[in-house]
Amino acid sequence: MPFTAKVVTTAAWGARPPISGRFPFPRTAPRYVIVHHTDNQNPPNDPSRGTSEGAMQLARNIQKFHMDVNGWSDSGHNFLNTTGGFILEARHGSLDAVKQGFSIQSAHAAQDPGKLANGNQSPGIENEGNFMTFQMGQKQWQSLVELCVSLCDSCNISPRNIKGHRDFSNTDCPGDLLYSQLPRLRKQVADKLGLQFTPEELENDSQVVDLKFGSTGSAVIKLQQRLRDRGFNPGAADGVFGEITEAAVKAFQRSVGLLDDGIVGSNTRMELGLS
Ligand SMILES: [Zn+2]
Repeated sequence: MPFTAKVVTTAAWGARPPISGRFPFPRTAPRYVIVHHTDNQNPPNDPSRGTSEGAMQLARNIQKFHMDVNGWSDSGHNFLNTTGGFILEARHGSLDAVKQGFSIQSAHAAQDPGKLANGNQSPGIENEGNFMTFQMGQKQWQSLVELCVSLCDSCNISPRNIKGHRDFSNTDCPGDLLYSQLPRLRKQVADKLGLQFTPEELENDSQVVDLKFGSTGSAVIKLQQRLRDRGFNPGAADGVFGEITEAAVKAFQRSVGLLDDGIVGSNTRMELGLS
């Protein structure tokens, strides 16, 4: 499927050039699509007022804030999705890169302890509004779905890896309500790409329980099989997380440079290909 989302380029909305010497931004191998909110007011007081002109003005204002207040080289994120369903390229070079299956080094999802890593190497989408309790309107939702479809397809990212900013950093972003709707977003994107997942596979990470000593069940069996596939000995794949499984988890964690705490959280799951 070609990159079908309609995106207004930085040239078209009159972006300022990035800080010299920092551009072009290094290309990166994206693993996620990361959803944000701008924390602006919602309709009817949304900054863009749902118009194309308003969307371009908002993009300029955010870029100005990121460069002049935060001191960044350019807009921190890669795309802006406004209330009128307009998608705008943000950091220079983002659109060309994702069309070719890459992202670029950005500044929208720094890693905090215990959170997912490498967010800034993946495309980040700022959605105009504050979605703690507000439900995104239909136009903006549709353009978000379309952009995610194009990004997942062209960059070969699983819809399961559509994440929220809070999965990477200590923040409320993208708001409680929008975060709770990420499983629905993953499902709609997967459907458009013709991919099938179980509802459990599309849940948010925070609803996946960490596996550790004493855990039992089918998730432990999957873990034990995966450890064995990777050349570690977890004992019998019996669904019981005992001492042998714990030792295998620790050995695996050391082998990939993770803290060997024996607890299978999001980073260990990711390294094992379990999420
Ligand atoms: Zn954010």
